[in-house]
Amino acid sequence: MSPKAIIVGGGIGGLSAAICLSLMGWRVRVLEQAAKISEIGAGLQISPNGVKILDKIGVMPRLEVDLFEPESIEIRMGISGRRLLDLPIKAVATHRWGARYIQIHRVDLIAALSTRLSELQGNALQTGAKVTSYRQTEEGADVVLADNSVVSGNLVIGADGIHSAIRRQMLGPDVPRFTGNIAWRALVPVARLGDLAPPPTGCIWAGRHKHAVTTRVRAGTVVNFVGIVEQTNWQQENWKTEGAKKGALSDFQGWDPRILAVIQEADTLHKWGLFDRAPLPQWHEKHVVLLGDSAHPMLPSMAQGAVQSIEDAYVLTQCLTANHKGIPSACSAYFDQRIKRTARVQQVSAQNLKLFHKSTLPAQLFSYVPIWVAGKFAPGLVQRRNDWLYGENLIS
Ligand SMILES: Cc1cc2nc3c(=O)[nH]c(=O)nc-3n(C[C@H](O)[C@H](O)[C@H](O)COP(=O)(O)OP(=O)(O)OC[C@H]3O[C@@H](n4cnc5c(N)ncnc54)[C@H](O)[C@@H]3O)c2cc1C
Repeated sequence: MSPKAIIVGGGIGGLSAAICLSLMGWRVRVLEQAAKISEIGAGLQISPNGVKILDKIGVMPRLEVDLFEPESIEIRMGISGRRLLDLPIKAVATHRWGARYIQIHRVDLIAALSTRLSELQGNALQTGAKVTSYRQTEEGADVVLADNSVVSGNLVIGADGIHSAIRRQMLGPDVPRFTGNIAWRALVPVARLGDLAPPPTGCIWAGRHKHAVTTRVRAGTVVNFVGIVEQTNWQQENWKTEGAKKGALSDFQGWDPRILAVIQEADTLHKWGLFDRAPLPQWHEKHVVLLGDSAHPMLPSMAQGAVQSIEDAYVLTQCLTANHKGIPSACSAYFDQRIKRTARVQQVSAQNLKLFHKSTLPAQLFSYVPIWVAGKFAPGLVQRRNDWLYGENLIS
């Protein structure tokens, strides 16, 4: 009989892993604690390294109607709106990095992944299934659910996000680090914003101790806003926390009218605390392995958390399929292949956040003038800085 994987968490990483493994003949069972999948969401940018894999595993056709391809990646000053960088992306992405750069609503991506999975294996996804622990067995590993039921498999994949119960059991209790930043998130129909709609790009608005990012989802008809603001502490870690509009308006007081219009017109603003964790010494214990945010949570300033979880899913499947000496050895090979790259993305994400938050005029001039000069006179050089990330081709 073909091997069976128990996947804890039906987020982007867990569903991607389920699809990749199904395509290689594995039986999969995804256990998701939420009663309903994809209740809440916001915009995500999926760079070419992620799109290549989504294409290979048959998910892209289901995203076509909802995705948006930004013309360029921009950096603007948050208060004046002055443009520092306008790097063409739509025209160059496929040629340079092998696939498109897209923006998509998380709900649409989750729906596409779920549909693809149910085509491959109907009933693989079980909602309302909270996993509390795992145990190693002779044939593989079991998970125990909150209702005390037990599900057995040959491999358990902990794709259960930053607060992963699987990671906690494997590596001991700790809390992820509060990075000193919170994120506001909102979605607003373009039609509601009129002339004050932010540009149809991936636009980073830099400012003192804060920055914003505007993108488009739902085929370009909805603006996605993320506003990242330094804050000394954070009590609630719940990403569903609804923040007051007043708070967001005060955080971005005096900013470009396009940013203020988005906040003003938002029906709901969600406030998240941003957490990360130093690279972990291991991602697996015998027949149990971590993937996505449970293994390497990162700041969103490279727009890579979801993309890296898709890469994890693909590489883990490749390792399990290659001729390793059993599942633990394949998990070890997966860790070896992934740790350097994900640690680098974590590090560059943290650096980017600092770059977008320069607080004094000299620091801004020192950092932003070279960006402006490079973007104007040598855009190819700026694009080349992303080759290691977007150009990665894991498809074999
Ligand atoms: C403001 C912001 C903007 C972002 N923008 C981008 C972007 O543009 N591009 C990008 O690539 N990434 C982005 N990210 C990062 C991205 O959202 C995450 O990295 C990604 O969602 C991680 O996916 P995951 O599947 O590993 O974890 P999650 O999405 O957290 O999924 C984990 C799943 O496991 C379930 N679960 C948890 N515990 C249990 C349990 N015990 N039993 C059963 N189920 C459980 C959860 O309910 C959840 O469904 C952004 C993040 C933030 C905060």
